[in-house]
Amino acid sequence: MTERIVVVGFGPVAARLVDEMLPAVRSGLAHLTVIGEEAEAAYNRVLVADLGVGRTTASALALSDAAALIADGVDVRLGVRVRRVDRARQQLVLSDGTSPRTTGWFSPPAPAR
Ligand SMILES: Cc1cc2nc3c(=O)[nH]c(=O)nc-3n(C[C@H](O)[C@H](O)[C@H](O)COP(=O)(O)OP(=O)(O)OC[C@H]3O[C@@H](n4cnc5c(N)ncnc54)[C@H](O)[C@@H]3O)c2cc1C
Repeated sequence: MTERIVVVGFGPVAARLVDEMLPAVRSGLAHLTVIGEEAEAAYNRVLVADLGVGRTTASALALSDAAALIADGVDVRLGVRVRRVDRARQQLVLSDGTSPRTTGWFSPPAPAR
């Protein structure tokens, strides 16, 4: 059976996870969906200050290439927020009204308090 994995959030940790999962996606063992509420794929936040003062470029911050992932068969959805995870139905509810199905998911850590 093909696992349907949804990664909630597309930050640096998700980027690494997605890279590690690519062989399974390419071989058809897993169907992978990545949902990020930011408009961009994962980028190196450590360099954001350098970008602000013109010491680096936006492309130098990139940790993932959404177009390349899509070409590899990953379902990449940017600018979309996961509103609810319905574990009983194995379904997520997204801000764009769609509800991808899943057999498993990874989500970002809860914000620090
Ligand atoms: C300016 C800056 C400088 C930093 N400098 C350093 C440093 O020098 N050294 C260091 O070790 N660390 C630094 N950090 C911290 C480092 O960037 C974080 O540790 C790292 O980003 C954590 O990665 P993450 O993927 O776990 O989570 P995040 O980077 O928080 O990514 C999570 C992503 O998930 C998205 N998301 C959350 N909820 C949802 C949802 N419901 N639906 C869809 N998407 C969702 C968020 O929008 C975000 O894009 C810095 C951070 C910033 C902002």
